[in-house]
Amino acid sequence: MAVSIEDVEILKPKTDKREYRRIVLKNSLQVLLISDPDTDKCAASLNVGVGSFCDPVGLEGLAHFLEHMLFYASEKYPLEDSYLKYITEHGGSTNAFTASEMTNYFFDANTDCFEEALDRFAQFFIKPLMSADATMREIKAVDSENKMYLLSDERRMSQLQKHLSLESHPYHKFGGGNCDTLDVRPKAKGVDTRQELLKFYEDKYSANLMHLVVYSKESLDKIQSLVEDKFQEIQNSDRSRFQFSSQPCTSEHLQILVRAVPIKQGHKLRIVWPITPSIVHYKEEPCRYLDHLINHEGEGSLSYVLKKLGWATELYAGEDDRASEFSFFYVVIDLTDAGQDHMQEIIGLLFKYIQLLQQSGVCKWIFDELSAICETGFHYEDKISPIDYVVRISSNMQVIKSHPFHPIFSISLL
Ligand SMILES: [Zn+2]
Repeated sequence: MAVSIEDVEILKPKTDKREYRRIVLKNSLQVLLISDPDTDKCAASLNVGVGSFCDPVGLEGLAHFLEHMLFYASEKYPLEDSYLKYITEHGGSTNAFTASEMTNYFFDANTDCFEEALDRFAQFFIKPLMSADATMREIKAVDSENKMYLLSDERRMSQLQKHLSLESHPYHKFGGGNCDTLDVRPKAKGVDTRQELLKFYEDKYSANLMHLVVYSKESLDKIQSLVEDKFQEIQNSDRSRFQFSSQPCTSEHLQILVRAVPIKQGHKLRIVWPITPSIVHYKEEPCRYLDHLINHEGEGSLSYVLKKLGWATELYAGEDDRASEFSFFYVVIDLTDAGQDHMQEIIGLLFKYIQLLQQSGVCKWIFDELSAICETGFHYEDKISPIDYVVRISSNMQVIKSHPFHPIFSISLL
């Protein structure tokens, strides 16, 4: 049998008329097929459970560099940029990103070119070209992305926070990569980056660690036969999932104050806690409850008080920077000049508010109200574009591999 159709009930929004089918190809590639007769775009996203946390020591950015090398040409379609040209000529777009635990490749295009677009896409994962002459060009592309990020305060603060964690934990590393980490330093040590790249690809990219979502106007049977035909040649080495279970912060990394000079004008106060990832408690979503209250702007709220005192202009709280085994909760406050002189008091007020929440416990009517809002949001959400939808679902399919009862459509309170 070429495929097995998984016997799982797919929980979908009430208003969703699309049809879904989940299958596993004989190479263990997990696939979700979506048929939408009303769509004017087809789309696909392939998520690989390998990200920058897998970078070898001394080759920071290798997973990101592989994303670049894999996604520009294949042996079947070797002409450089012909894929991008094909997709843009057919009304579509394509991109990829490398995160800490996953790399995601995706495209959309007009529905009439579905078959060829899918074939070109599949070939990247069957036989990517990764030619030697593209090596330097793509290292430079990675480097120029990094140069751009150097101007982003958000990126700078994120890297600073990683720096203030356990050196032995993958969270500590620099995942983006640049010329220094991918060319200058390896060369000095006699390491051939391209050879390491090929080794990394052979060793880590395996169909059983991939999740594919395909969205099309065609019927589910038609999409299924195309997917079987085009994707079953992806190599499967039955690689076990990469897991990074320890916590990146120990007591020496906590209760510290760091002052950093931003590029943009203005003052931001960021208070960060390591937390259990809320996905572990996805049915209760404790972070959603907490950020709802801490973000509240009504009279008597923290935000209201800070603004009234003239110390802050904006407050944001929520979970971010999450990984499968650890996560962080942030409170970020945009301070006024006056607010900067009252930082200690602002932190004092925040902790007083948290203490108040702890003392009053979980308030049932607030939880129920929030739960009803989330449920309505899930069932009546406006259709998002096929390309965003496939990326969201393929990423979620990887997340649910470690938390198997989580619904794949939405990380929301149900
Ligand atoms: Zn990139």
